[in-house]
Amino acid sequence: MTALAALLARRIAVSGPMRLSDYMAECLLNPLHGYYATRDPLGAAGDFTTAPEISQMFGELIGLCLAQSWLDQGAPRAALAEAGPGRGTLMADIWRATRGVPGFHERVTLHLIEASPVLRAAQAARLAGAPATWHDSVDALPDAPLWFVANEFFDALPIRQFHRAGDGWREVVVGVQGERLAPGLTPPAPLADLAHRLADTRDGDIVETCPAARPVMQAIQQRIAAHGGAAVIVDYGGWHSLGDTFQAIEDHAFADPFANPGRADLTAHVDFEALALAAGGLSASALMPQGALLRALGIDARAQRLARGLGGAALEQHQAAYRRLTHAQEMGTLFKALALVPPGAPLPPGFAPATAKGSET
Ligand code: SAH
Repeated sequence: MTALAALLARRIAVSGPMRLSDYMAECLLNPLHGYYATRDPLGAAGDFTTAPEISQMFGELIGLCLAQSWLDQGAPRAALAEAGPGRGTLMADIWRATRGVPGFHERVTLHLIEASPVLRAAQAARLAGAPATWHDSVDALPDAPLWFVANEFFDALPIRQFHRAGDGWREVVVGVQGERLAPGLTPPAPLADLAHRLADTRDGDIVETCPAARPVMQAIQQRIAAHGGAAVIVDYGGWHSLGDTFQAIEDHAFADPFANPGRADLTAHVDFEALALAAGGLSASALMPQGALLRALGIDARAQRLARGLGGAALEQHQAAYRRLTHAQEMGTLFKALALVPPGAPLPPGFAPATAKGSET
C-alpha cells in the first residue's frame, strides 16, 4: 500500500466507504501525498503533456483570441485569470503574444488559481516580471471585468459516479477489500440532482457529476455577467456526461485508479453542458473541436510562419506538434473548447454560435 492508501484505509475503517470525489481529491491534492501537491507532472519525466507544452502556437492563438474579445468589449481595466496553470506556459505565451495589443499590458493584471505549491513556483519562474497574483480559489478574483481561461483544469476536479438502477442511482464509493482499496456501490436511492437524467438514460447507464465545477462556474459567471469579459475553457470531454470516464495515468500508461493512490494522475471527461448550465447567466458558444477552433484562429498561417526559420529535427518536431494539436486522430476532436460571454456580447473570434440545440458543432 502507498502511504496515502494506508491513511485512507484507516479513515474508511472509522467512517465507512468514501465518495469517489473525496477519494479523487485526496489522491490529487492531499498536502503530503497528493499527486499534484508533490510533483510537477508536466516535467520532462512527467506523466502527461498538454497543448501549451506541445507548442507555443496554442498559447499564442488563445492569447490573441482573448485579447480580441477584450478589444471588442471596449478594452477595459480587467483581470486575466487562469485556473490550473500547470507550469505557467499557457499564460507566459499569452502574455508574450499580446505585447503588441495596444493597452493590453497596461490595463490587464494576471491572476493564477493554483492549488499546488510545486507548480506555483514553476509558474512564478515563467512569469517573472509580469503583473501576476496567485489565489487559492476563483472566489478571490477581483470584482472586475474578467477574461478567464482554463486548459485541462476541469478534468482534474473530483467527480462522483452513479449507476442507474430503476428510477434510482447507486453511487460508486471506495472501500477496503483485504489489503487493497476497491470500488463498491451503495444501495439504489432516488437523487434529486439527477432527476433530469432519468429521461435520457437506461438501467445500468453510468453518469458522472463534478460538484466542484459548479461554484467555480458561478464565481466566473457573476463577474463576467456584472462587469463584462469572457471565459474560454478547453478540455477533453463532451456535451453530456454518459459512461465511465474515470481514469488513471501512471508512468505514461493507463493504470488501475485504486492501486496506487497519490502516484497516478486521476481525471474524468468534462461535461461541458454542466459547465454551461452552472454559468446559466452567460451565453455559450457551440462546443468547438480543438482542431476546428485552432484552424479558425489561424494556426495554419502561424505554423507556416514559424516553419520558415526551422530545419532538420526542429522542423520535424514543429510539424509533429501542429499535427498533434489539430489532427482528428490526436487532440483535434477529443479536446473541445467552449466560450461564455455576457448575453448580447460578441463571441471571441474562432468560436461558432451555439446551434438551436445548444450542443456540439
Ligand atoms: N493548464 C495546464 C496544467 C493542467 S494540469 C496545462 O495545460 O499544461 C491541472 C492543473 O490544475 C495543475 O496546475 C493542478 O495543480 C491544478 N489543479 C488541480 N486541482 C486544482 C484545484 N482544486 N484548485 C486549483 N488548481 C488545481
